Amino acid sequence: MERQFDLVIVGAGPAGMAASIYGSRAGLKTLLLDNGAPGGKLIKTHKISNYPGVKELAGTDLAMSMLEQATSFGAVYEYGDVTEISEDKVVHLSYGDPIQAKAIIVATGTKERLMNIPNEKENIGRGVSFCAVCDGAFFRGKEVVVIGGGNSALEESLYLSKLVDKVTIVIRRDVFRAEKNIQDQIENTPNIKIIKKHIPVEVVSENNKVSGIVLENVDTKERMTYSCQGIFPYIGQDPITDMLKKLPVLNDRGYVVVNEHMETCVEGIYAAGDVIVKELRQVVTATNDGAIAAQRAYKRITEI
Ligand code: NDP
Repeated sequence: MERQFDLVIVGAGPAGMAASIYGSRAGLKTLLLDNGAPGGKLIKTHKISNYPGVKELAGTDLAMSMLEQATSFGAVYEYGDVTEISEDKVVHLSYGDPIQAKAIIVATGTKERLMNIPNEKENIGRGVSFCAVCDGAFFRGKEVVVIGGGNSALEESLYLSKLVDKVTIVIRRDVFRAEKNIQDQIENTPNIKIIKKHIPVEVVSENNKVSGIVLENVDTKERMTYSCQGIFPYIGQDPITDMLKKLPVLNDRGYVVVNEHMETCVEGIYAAGDVIVKELRQVVTATNDGAIAAQRAYKRITEI
């Protein structure tokens, strides 16, 4: 095995970046790996306005600032697609030699849940998108549907409403899950329409592009085809924990179980951010977890 680090952090979202800042600043030889662009969900977020000290900032700017801070203390940032983390603290990659660590922090976050309806997968990139910030501009002057009533769905709808002609939010109950202040903003946005008590059942396409969505009334089961050129499902998230499947650290929904020190039941393996079992998934709570995990890893490594 060629490469050895004190601390390997998997996932460069806010939790992983905070862990790298704390780890490298404490003097640990720290490696931060990600199989995408640094920033995690930050880079898919139009603006951040609830991170203390940051009144309002583009998600990408906050991500870059965190990465600069981490690397300025000596953390090494690299592309790495982690396939397995083993009990002996070896990080296995889909490409390249395995890496031996003294401690590992898993901060892989979550991925957007699919609607799992006919024609959805076939139309990803042809009108179905999971990232309003990345793809919203393609729908200028068009009509889009957002599925879901949580914070993500409503925040992204507000973003889209500035670009597109009309946004229709479809929710399955008659109430939103999102925070009240975001709901208020939605109600005050004239080009946002809300359809309650409907679920998506099929994506409709014409000439290889989305042309509508079939919605079903949850009470009457009546179906209608709703015309739109874009569909943005924001119906929740699933944890990215495939690389941990052989370890006894996951709950039945695939989230990592940790104690208040971000320790899993496997010594030297920690987890932080959206990937752990927790109630509040926010940038501020992710950075909090990352700091705790790195500090604990530092303590363990220095005790060894
Ligand atoms: P949520 O789980 O909060 O919301 C998911 C939404 O999708 C709900 O309205 C849910 O309906 C609906 N839904 C779920 N499954 C289906 C389905 N099969 N068909 C139709 N609708 C469905 O997910 P989010 O991604 O919005 O948020 C994840 C976490 O991140 C939350 O803790 C949230 O608070 C946080 N977050 C915070 C932000 C902020 O503070 N600025 C920004 C974005 C996210 P129902 O309500 O009926 O269950």
